[in-house]
Amino acid sequence: MITMATDGYDAVLLDIEGTTTPISFVHDELFPYVARSVAEFLEARWGEPEVQAHVRAIAEQANKDVAAGIADAVAVDLAADSAEEARRKVLANIEWQMKADRKIGALKDLQGYMWKFGFEGGELRGAMYPDAVAAMKRWAGAGRKVYIYSSGSVEAQKLIFGYTTHGSLLGLISGYYDTKVGAKIDASSYAAIAADIGLAPGRVLFVSDNVNEIRAADEAGMQTVVSVRPGNTPIGECAFRQSSDFMDIPL
Ligand SMILES: [Mg+2]
Repeated sequence: MITMATDGYDAVLLDIEGTTTPISFVHDELFPYVARSVAEFLEARWGEPEVQAHVRAIAEQANKDVAAGIADAVAVDLAADSAEEARRKVLANIEWQMKADRKIGALKDLQGYMWKFGFEGGELRGAMYPDAVAAMKRWAGAGRKVYIYSSGSVEAQKLIFGYTTHGSLLGLISGYYDTKVGAKIDASSYAAIAADIGLAPGRVLFVSDNVNEIRAADEAGMQTVVSVRPGNTPIGECAFRQSSDFMDIPL
């Protein structure tokens, strides 16, 4: 049981990975979905304007990579290559970058775009810890507003919570924040979120597995609980409250 040192809170701000959702979710489910379906996806949707916009971004990045001497990069000439040739080269660039777990704009944008089809088509489901779902329902039912703050884009957050292993949870959530509001380890981000919600930081409870994020929220004046889940980085002794079952967090 966690004892709260304060007189409650009006809103809860939740991290996703390692908090509501297993930390391995993105690597175990979202990335493999793209890896196994990207070839077929490009073939089926190559002519679509939105797909072509992603193709142009991937090609532009690939040509920069070739110029920079990156060995695996394959040059793409969208004006000269046949559609089939261009598709093969674009795919080769996507595949090496995914194997290298590269975090680069063009690839991340395409991954996010493809996830939408995976969630909407029923092949992907947002993995949720049952106690996180129960606690979200309990908070919302008791008039505590629930917000999400994740490094994944707001669009991706809405997909994860819109299509979960427990159905859609969008009705429980009052708002979403990503790193457009600021980095998760900066206190100013939490101050900005509290201001946007319209509450004093002290009336917001932030839950995350990452102690650096917890420290930043604490510095901004928020209440905090560290999420302890299987597979999370062990945090050992720390000055912050911890929870492995969110139903134990007092209202
Ligand atoms: Mg996390």
